Amino acid sequence: MTTYNPVELILKKRNGFLLDTDEIDFFINGFLSGAIADYQMSAMLMAMYFQGLETAEIRALTAAYINSGKTLSFPEEMITADKHSTGGVGDKISLMLAPIAAALGLYVPMISGRGLGHTGGTLDKLESIPGFNTQYTMPEFRDLVIKHGYALVGQSAELVPADKRIYALRDVSATVESVGLITASIMSKKIAEGAKNLVIDLKIGSGAFMPNLRRAEELASSLIETGNAFGQNVSVIFSNMNSPLGTEVGNALEVIEAIEYLKGNYRPDTYELTTALVAEMLIISGKALDFADAKKQIDAVVNSGKALQAFGEIIIAQGGDPSVIEDYSIFGKAECTIPVLCDQSGYIHKIDSSRIGYALVKIKAGRMKVSDTLDYSAGASLPYKIGDYVEADSVLALVHCNDAEQGMLVANEIKAAYAILDMQIAPEKLIYKIQRNGV
Ligand code: URA
Repeated sequence: MTTYNPVELILKKRNGFLLDTDEIDFFINGFLSGAIADYQMSAMLMAMYFQGLETAEIRALTAAYINSGKTLSFPEEMITADKHSTGGVGDKISLMLAPIAAALGLYVPMISGRGLGHTGGTLDKLESIPGFNTQYTMPEFRDLVIKHGYALVGQSAELVPADKRIYALRDVSATVESVGLITASIMSKKIAEGAKNLVIDLKIGSGAFMPNLRRAEELASSLIETGNAFGQNVSVIFSNMNSPLGTEVGNALEVIEAIEYLKGNYRPDTYELTTALVAEMLIISGKALDFADAKKQIDAVVNSGKALQAFGEIIIAQGGDPSVIEDYSIFGKAECTIPVLCDQSGYIHKIDSSRIGYALVKIKAGRMKVSDTLDYSAGASLPYKIGDYVEADSVLALVHCNDAEQGMLVANEIKAAYAILDMQIAPEKLIYKIQRNGV
């Protein structure tokens, strides 16, 4: 490999010139080997943040990330598909989507993350099931997927280690919100895990990190282009994250909501989004002709109990206690429930979902640092959406907690997160649009 002076490469990017593949490889490998210091990597990330990255640079960065670790592949006849969500409040969709997709014959190698800040993480939710293990080596993970049609695990140290280290630096150097850096980070993991088809739930609004549609469209094009360059079909569904998804926010509460969903008891918003995402997975994988065909297949596996059975199967395979499906008391219940009462009658105009997500950290339903401990039973029930009418003194939300003092603070924060006005307002659209691109 050609050798470069790291300072010259930082200067080149800082001054707006493009880096070629060799230069990007050199920089990433140098950082991983310790030859390039954290402060130089941080400076490079800031240069990339301000100057942006061109398509070829994003591809080179994605390839360097992938090549920093091991990759998985599955036999050609196994049709692999996955979903990635950019993160939201109350987003338990993966818990329903993966068993439904597996029950329909897709192979879903799902590598999930932990909650941080206002957003929750699938791994934390799953770990609220006693015994459920999310840490597997890559060969073990592959075996689980082949045997059960899916697995729900955390990123192992062998998969895209470059992203793990660089993401940690981005987090503390204010360089997260860059389209190019986000693309390489997300896509490298989704390509390395071996999914040939990928649907991305790109969330926009108060509980999301993409504030508006224009920025989200830029990211979507970059994600699709990069996936396609590595032989992956990618679709992006733009969804509204202004109201928390479903009714429950909090780890065990969300798993119970997901189990209820698989028993056929679902809310319109979780049904619409889960169905849209699984349908898109089926369509781009060639397993459904169109949305109507996909929806019929999805409804059939939920109504027959096959999807619930698939969920029970993965709980057992990953060491969890499957009796939780019938006995929710196994999760453990929070000691107090604190009602949040409406001060006035009216229509909900706005919900500050990220404020709710951050407030819930106080009762350990979420975390601010990776090392923070969680209380799986803590959270909130939030039955109302934007556009709903609420009566004065009725229950707007319920806080579930084991620390009543902190719970009261959370209740006040939740109340302040809702804007209730006299004037009627139409409910918001949940799905804005789908951007699809096949290879
Ligand atoms: N999620 C990721 O995995 N990486 C990013 O850069 C942003 C969100």
